[in-house]
Amino acid sequence: MLGEKLAIFGGDPVRDSMLPYGKQFIDNKDIEAVISTLKSDFITTGPAIEEFEKGIADYVGADYAVAFSNGTAALHGACFAAGITPGDEVITTPLTFVATVNCVSYLGGIPIFADVDRDTYNIDPSSITSLVSKKTKAIIPVDFTGQPVDYEKITAIADKHNLIIIEDAAHALGATYKGEKVGSFSDMTMFSFHPVKHVTTGEGGIITTNNLEYYKKLQMFRTHGITRETKQLIERRRSWEYEMQFLGYNYRMTDIQAALGVSQLEKLDNFVDIRRKIVNCYNHAFRKLEHVILPHQLSGTESSYHLYVIRLSGPLAERREDIFEALRAENIGVNVHYMPVHTQPFYKNRGYKEGICPVAEELYQQFITLPLFPAMTSKDVEDVIESVIKVVRHYGKSSVKGE
Ligand SMILES: *Cc1c(COP(=O)(O)O)cnc(C)c1O
Repeated sequence: MLGEKLAIFGGDPVRDSMLPYGKQFIDNKDIEAVISTLKSDFITTGPAIEEFEKGIADYVGADYAVAFSNGTAALHGACFAAGITPGDEVITTPLTFVATVNCVSYLGGIPIFADVDRDTYNIDPSSITSLVSKKTKAIIPVDFTGQPVDYEKITAIADKHNLIIIEDAAHALGATYKGEKVGSFSDMTMFSFHPVKHVTTGEGGIITTNNLEYYKKLQMFRTHGITRETKQLIERRRSWEYEMQFLGYNYRMTDIQAALGVSQLEKLDNFVDIRRKIVNCYNHAFRKLEHVILPHQLSGTESSYHLYVIRLSGPLAERREDIFEALRAENIGVNVHYMPVHTQPFYKNRGYKEGICPVAEELYQQFITLPLFPAMTSKDVEDVIESVIKVVRHYGKSSVKGE
């Protein structure tokens, strides 16, 4: 099998059908939960929302949770609750999905890109320190691939400069930092329930927090800035009146989605377990591959592995595109996370220059994301391993371009 002709050069592909890099796992219990909500009195903002919010808050060990229509809306809400206004600076990482940065831009804030650590690929605390200014209001670290950021170091910086931490934990539901679940310690933490994430609601997001003020603001932000709560009303009101106190949005999650979320939550620990087991298989299979750098685990953290990212070094780094295309030809749905956000046309047009985050920019050229999701069969895992070894061996040996 090894040494066989690569599919990209006309050989037989390792698999017949494309294996995606991530996808949902839905069982009959999930389907039943959604159906019973459809038959109930509430299909939006009913009992399932509260149940889901409580389920997530309890799971991560936070006091409060507010569900949103998607993770991006949740981040928008968190930036609003943090009081980001035009001109405020927010320090974040370029190695993330654009939503992490856009939530600052929505409010007229100025994203400031800190570089990342070469080993963990997470935001580098020393880079944050060098970028703090009088205008800095918050930090948005991202637990890239599911590995928690160096939270103690980031908190020390935040405490010193009075900054709010909004953790983008879209990748990290189920991960732990020094024994504490991600979602229990930052000022606000965001999780996403997009189908490739740990549990899904189709579209969905949530903010967890231990701060009552943020909690109230988030709840109102999600529904037009409106409140009916007697204690929160600014003026005396008649019983049917409500108050819109600030400009919010309709960012509500439906009960249909929340019912799916509640049902999915029951499987979360198992999902994380399966992800970790697949990662162990990959780590073991690839440990001796030359010029392939495997994920590094920061001591004291346990990743929940949303993504498995390999980094190519030496001669393989220059062939990243060829290796990527060759893996796709074997029907392995590899991906790349992420194009550094400051190099996107929108942000380039706003004056961000290439070169401001040299480590992130270099790493981006060397990354390949391999498929990783709980519905993978052991055959799927073997196919990925076989393909990576087949392709990497080929490009490791041949220095002939185009062969
Ligand atoms: C998925 C994701 C989000 C939020 O995405 P939604 O699709 O809006 O739920 C934000 N940040 C990161 C890093 C993500 O991976």
